[in-house]
Amino acid sequence: MRVGILGIAGRMGQELVAQARAAGHDVIGGTLNPASARAYRNDIPALGLPDLAGQSDVVIDFTHADAVAEHARILSTGRAAWVLGTTGISPEQQLQVEAASHRIAVLQAAHFGLGINLLMTVARQLAAILPAETYDAEIVEMHHRQKVDAPSGSALLLGQAVAEGRGTTLAAVMESGRDGHCGARATGAIGFASLRGGQIVGEHSLSFTALGEQITLSHRAFDRNIFAAGAMRAAAWLVGRPPGLYGIDEMLDLRPAREHDRQ
Ligand code: NAD
Repeated sequence: MRVGILGIAGRMGQELVAQARAAGHDVIGGTLNPASARAYRNDIPALGLPDLAGQSDVVIDFTHADAVAEHARILSTGRAAWVLGTTGISPEQQLQVEAASHRIAVLQAAHFGLGINLLMTVARQLAAILPAETYDAEIVEMHHRQKVDAPSGSALLLGQAVAEGRGTTLAAVMESGRDGHCGARATGAIGFASLRGGQIVGEHSLSFTALGEQITLSHRAFDRNIFAAGAMRAAAWLVGRPPGLYGIDEMLDLRPAREHDRQ
């Protein structure tokens, strides 16, 4: 497989290079944030995205939400598939991703590890069983001090899974950023809290708390190599598929395949 790595100088970019090479893939090159391009020292060429996409079967993107719209615009004019792991994407930026998926195969996931995707499946099931009026759902996440978006993409996905299980949408019931005299918890709310510190790769917990008991699901990622392994597996799965916006739950067979827009 010919692979291009967007954001090759980043933490995930470096991990992806190591894993792609270890698996015997051809790492064509990578893109850099124009602001940090001068500091790049590596044997893998830094290329512009049009050039890189033109030579790659798949590009893997763990960069920054602000880059997503431009990536979508450029990639939709080529043939390379797009594995997208960047989080913190706004609704407007997401529309650009969806537009690109009408022309190329895109697999987007806020968390490429198997464990948390399984956790989401279980969260959806528990939420469908435990009444929202009596079991308060709260999600706590902790990540390294450099993380720029909150709540984390995975925390939001966990919240969406709970909302789906309860037959509602996260937008309708989300409570985050509680501070000061913010009032009592709304019945049926899904609450979020974000902690930051050190080099924590990713910790998530979801609790359902009633008057007499508490059920907690938790997940800790110790090494970002689990995300890179999932992204590499996603790249191999995606190459050759028709245009569409695919989810990691389909790749992992955690839910039935959805209908995709096809050209
Ligand atoms: P990082 O800051 O170490 O790396 C990001 C890299 O992208 C940096 O080198 C930055 O200079 C570069 N970059 C920014 N804008 C760019 C542009 N326009 N073109 C090319 N490169 C650009 O961060 P990270 O820890 O590697 O995480 C990157 C992203 O991936 C974040 O959004 C993070 O939340 C997300 N992430 C997702 C998963 C997942 O499983 N989906 C796992 C880990 C991280």
